[in-house]
Amino acid sequence: RKINIAIDGFSSCGKSTMAKQLAKKLNYTYVDSGAMYRAITLYFLRNHIDWTDITEVEEALKNISLYFKVNSQTGISEIHLNDENVEYVIRDLVIAEKVSEVAAIRQVREFAVKQQQEIGKQKGVIMDGRDIGTTVFPEAELKIFMTADIAVRVERRFKELYAKNPNVTIEEVKTNLEMRDYIDSNREFSPLRKADDAIIIDNTNLTPNEQLTKVLDLFKV
Ligand code: C5P
Repeated sequence: RKINIAIDGFSSCGKSTMAKQLAKKLNYTYVDSGAMYRAITLYFLRNHIDWTDITEVEEALKNISLYFKVNSQTGISEIHLNDENVEYVIRDLVIAEKVSEVAAIRQVREFAVKQQQEIGKQKGVIMDGRDIGTTVFPEAELKIFMTADIAVRVERRFKELYAKNPNVTIEEVKTNLEMRDYIDSNREFSPLRKADDAIIIDNTNLTPNEQLTKVLDLFKV
C-alpha cells in the first residue's frame, strides 16, 4: 500500500536529496513543491508583475500553468511553466532572492497547494517543502522535518551555485538562506513549521547514504 510522505525543513537542508533517494528506493513519485513557487516567481519577474497588487497577482495566476514531467534520462521530474521546461533557470539566485516574498502571498499559496493536493491523490508521493506536513498533506503517514547547521547548509548551496556561476559569493548565499528562512517562518499563511507528528532528522554530519539508511531504519518503509 502506497502512502504519501512529507519532507519539510529550512532551506538547503538536504530535503530534495533525501526525497529523491527515497522516491527511487520505494518507486514513489518525487514532487518538489518549492519548484512551483520558484516557477511562479520566474513568471512574475519576466512579466513585470507587481506582486504587491493583489489584482495583478490574481490576473497573472490565471495565465500560469504548471506541471511536472519526468526526464527520461534522469528519472527525475522537472517543472514546466506554460509548457517550457524551467527546472534549471529557477535555481538561479535571482529567483531565490524573490521567491519567499512571492510564496508569502495567500493567493499564490492557494494556487500551488491546490495543485499539490491534486497530485497527492494518486498516493505514493514524496513531496518536499515548508508546509507539506502541516498544510498540504496533514494526513501524511510519514512526516520528516530536516535540519542541518547553517554553516553546512551554506557550504552545500554555495557549491551548487558556484558550479554554475563562479561570481557567486559565500556571503550572498548565507544572506539568502537566512533571509528565506526568516520570511518563510514568519509569514502569515502556512509558515514553515514542524508538524507535531514529524520526525526530526539532523543531517549536519550525515552523508546522503547515511541519512537514507537512517530513515529506512526508522520507518521500516
Ligand atoms: O525548496 P526551495 O528552497 O526550492 O523553495 C524555494 C522557496 O519556496 C522557499 O524559500 C519558500 O519561500 C517557498 N516554499 C514555500 N512552501 C513550500 C515550498 C517552498 O513557501 N512548500
